[in-house]
Amino acid sequence: MDISIKEHERYASKANLSKGINDVQKAIDLLTKTREAVVADPQSASSTVTRAQKPLKDCFASVKEDLLEVYRGNGKYQKTLEAKFKDKPFPTSDNNALATQTPLINRAIAMHLLREGQFDVASQFLTDITSATHHPSPPSTTPTHSPSAEESLSSIDPIHSPTLRHSFEQMYSILSSLRQHRDLLPAIAWSRIRSQELENRGSNLEFELAQLQFIHLFDTQGRDAALAYARAEDHHFAHFQSRYLNELSRLASSLAYQPSLASSPYRALFLAQGTWDDLARSFTREFCSLLGLSAQSPLYIAATAGAIALPTLLKLQTIMKDKRAEWTTAQELPVEIPLPPSYQFHSIFVCPVSKEQTTDENPPMMMPCGHVVAQETLCRMARGSRFKCPYCPSESRPVDAVKLFM
Ligand SMILES: [Zn+2]
Repeated sequence: MDISIKEHERYASKANLSKGINDVQKAIDLLTKTREAVVADPQSASSTVTRAQKPLKDCFASVKEDLLEVYRGNGKYQKTLEAKFKDKPFPTSDNNALATQTPLINRAIAMHLLREGQFDVASQFLTDITSATHHPSPPSTTPTHSPSAEESLSSIDPIHSPTLRHSFEQMYSILSSLRQHRDLLPAIAWSRIRSQELENRGSNLEFELAQLQFIHLFDTQGRDAALAYARAEDHHFAHFQSRYLNELSRLASSLAYQPSLASSPYRALFLAQGTWDDLARSFTREFCSLLGLSAQSPLYIAATAGAIALPTLLKLQTIMKDKRAEWTTAQELPVEIPLPPSYQFHSIFVCPVSKEQTTDENPPMMMPCGHVVAQETLCRMARGSRFKCPYCPSESRPVDAVKLFM
């Protein structure tokens, strides 16, 4: 890959259009000046124009020269890429599982654009794909109300509804206050309204926002401002008391260490790096999840996972060609594709023994016999030694169990 990166850098520095743009600008300036001179003194128009001819010709010559350099760079870069990626087996009609899924792919692209905050591009894209697939029916003669194209589409798929766009606009506006202006209040107001939903999800977002607001006020306006915020009726720190008593007393105790917080045990709370970014990330996650969406764009995840998998798939294709093997299992890969942990998702699993839903801290574990229980159950059953599976006669040791990603 190194060589292509190097080539790319050379391409960017050699074959860019900035010189050409400068030279075109020079020509425009010259023409503008000549026009002004002619307007100011129409009598000598012909001699003014004649005088401008030679420098203008020079300008055109240098633009041509500039472009030549760009073409040369283009060609060279293309050659490097072609040499680097000799075999281009993807995608062909044989192994392109997505060839028949154009509507799904379009939907994923539109959703990705919305989630990235590219609202204008997204609505243009939606208009384009709609007009490409939607043939307007002949005008109806009955006087009944016929829904507009947008209305009827949004009843089919929410991606066409303006509500989704408004939601993401709200998300970006809150995020920009938080990130750019260190203003937590819009996020706090949002989470206050959804307090119950967030709590049902087990989210700490509302409290974390209030806590950071307290710390932020303490940092920027001092202790009294922070205390006033905590005590104010509608900022109800009181409302957090049942769930976050420890955290609240930590905040209260930290005040005693002022002004030497930097050397106090509460240092980490006040001088934590990346708190704002972390909070912006959890806000995005909770916002998306209340919309019923994953925190990251599925298109981004799918494309990145695909890029990670490509080398393995290329190798596989070569091997299969050599061995003249056929890949017959539909919708399933014949090899394992190792992906980083952030690309591994699990659906809900309830431990059949403890009846508890598994979590990241208490993940599902598969014993050598293939039966699955939650990690805590496993530890309880085994107590470090051999134990019998609750579902079959086989015995195993805790070390033999593997963590499952589903
Ligand atoms: Zn078993």
